[in-house]
Amino acid sequence: MKRVVIIGGGLGGLASATRLAVQGHHVTLCEAGPTLGGKMNTFESRGFRFDTGPSLITMPGVFEETFAAAGERIEEHIKLQRLEPVAEYVWPDGTRLQHGSSLPQWLEVVRQLEPRDVKGFWKFMKLGARLLELSNETFLRRAPTEAPDWRTLRALRFLPLRRAWGNYARVVSDLFVSPHLRQMFLRYPTYVGSSPWRSPATLLVIPYLEYAYGGWFAQGGLYRIVQAIAAIARARGAELRVNAPVEGIEAASGRVKSVRLHDGTRLEADVVVMNGDASMLARLMKSPTDKGLPPEQRSMSGFLTLAGLPREVPGLHHHTVFFSADYEHEFRQLMDEARFPDDPTVYVNAPSRSDRSLVPGDGETLFIMANAPARAEPWDDAATREALSRVFARLRASGFHAIDAELPVLEKWTPRRIEQAYRMPGGAIYGRHSHGWRGAFMRPANRQRTRGLYVVGGSGHPGGGTPTVLLSAKITSELIAKHERD
Ligand SMILES: Cc1cc2nc3c(=O)[nH]c(=O)nc-3n(C[C@H](O)[C@H](O)[C@H](O)COP(=O)(O)OP(=O)(O)OC[C@H]3O[C@@H](n4cnc5c(N)ncnc54)[C@H](O)[C@@H]3O)c2cc1C
Repeated sequence: MKRVVIIGGGLGGLASATRLAVQGHHVTLCEAGPTLGGKMNTFESRGFRFDTGPSLITMPGVFEETFAAAGERIEEHIKLQRLEPVAEYVWPDGTRLQHGSSLPQWLEVVRQLEPRDVKGFWKFMKLGARLLELSNETFLRRAPTEAPDWRTLRALRFLPLRRAWGNYARVVSDLFVSPHLRQMFLRYPTYVGSSPWRSPATLLVIPYLEYAYGGWFAQGGLYRIVQAIAAIARARGAELRVNAPVEGIEAASGRVKSVRLHDGTRLEADVVVMNGDASMLARLMKSPTDKGLPPEQRSMSGFLTLAGLPREVPGLHHHTVFFSADYEHEFRQLMDEARFPDDPTVYVNAPSRSDRSLVPGDGETLFIMANAPARAEPWDDAATREALSRVFARLRASGFHAIDAELPVLEKWTPRRIEQAYRMPGGAIYGRHSHGWRGAFMRPANRQRTRGLYVVGGSGHPGGGTPTVLLSAKITSELIAKHERD
């Protein structure tokens, strides 16, 4: 049995606590903030309940696996609900389309928009299926530093996918003619906080996963997943502490020895698992002034508004995306100029459309989000007001007037608040961006050079987003089982 200290109580930290407690280790998890869950968190006011982080999950099988690793059945803890449609997309020219899970219906939508794109869609599905097979065998389920086994070698035969190694936006343009379908597919790299114009086409696996496995929600809100995993970790003996920021990791002779908490407590550790942003390891290990991930390497942050509407909005779907008029210009402003766009694409999540327990009687819970650069802009009151007015201007211009009504709850999350709440440099939601091949695949290793030191979560391998973070916890705990034997 090893003494394991986990730094951070995000989804990856909690899933690791569960898996490592099941392996029989003595696990102590230290979360700096007042609640568990990290970015996957919750906010409640006047009877309105919001998720403040993830709003859509894919790959439900990975969630089932996490519970199964502790001998539990997910359905005994959480009711996962497949969304139908997954999302509605709205363009400034008035075009609207729904992406549902029925393939014949979706093909009809594509045919209506542009008959030539039916062929492009099939090509995309074929490419996505091969990419998923390749990713599963090589990247998603194993640590990149481990020696290849026969499965990896077998997967290499899929590598000559000429398209997969190209530029994401270029491949989308090759596959689709309709400007609407192009824009719809261009959006997916934002699921990992990246620009479609800079990401590799391998990220087409993201839309493929949504088409193949659907988009899901958990009744009661996605925070239920955090609560259930935390309860299982505790039941297996893990100690989960909140308000326990770690200030330093101590090592001797190339091996971790202990962690130092803010209040001066020292916890002896054979194994330390970093669930906070991996770029903060340098600060914890040697240099208290290190600022972590440099701005040009950061994934995007977000500008988020939580609003409780006093009445229902019939016809509104669980997820709606209101596209900006010029997507490429929007990304130039986000990435090249590092500023909040004049005309942002706005994502509206209304979980109360699927679950009335989230609202007090009538009404809707709205989670309204736009991408924002992960830079240390001031985000003072004036900047925040200006960003909010641009978000609302896009919604009004796209015909969404529900926000004109009185809003009884209004919470705003700026990149600066995200940075401070979760200790992510600049509020970069997904750690390093996934630009280029290196950015997407050469992420901080789960097993670090200092012996006994591991990384888990979205800033490390294999990357951000809830299912990937759970896979990260699986990889890291398997590495610990392999390398940290008594
Ligand atoms: C607004 C928003 C929307 C999102 N939407 C989606 C979505 O729809 N679907 C999806 O799959 N994903 C989404 N995500 C991403 C998803 O939330 C993350 O990828 C995932 O939750 C990250 O989990 P993690 O394990 O990496 O830990 P994190 O959530 O990053 O948590 C790390 C924890 O470590 C703690 N910590 C850091 N340093 C220290 C220290 N020194 N001492 C103690 N504790 C420390 C932090 O306080 C934090 O709680 C979204 C995120 C945000 C913010």
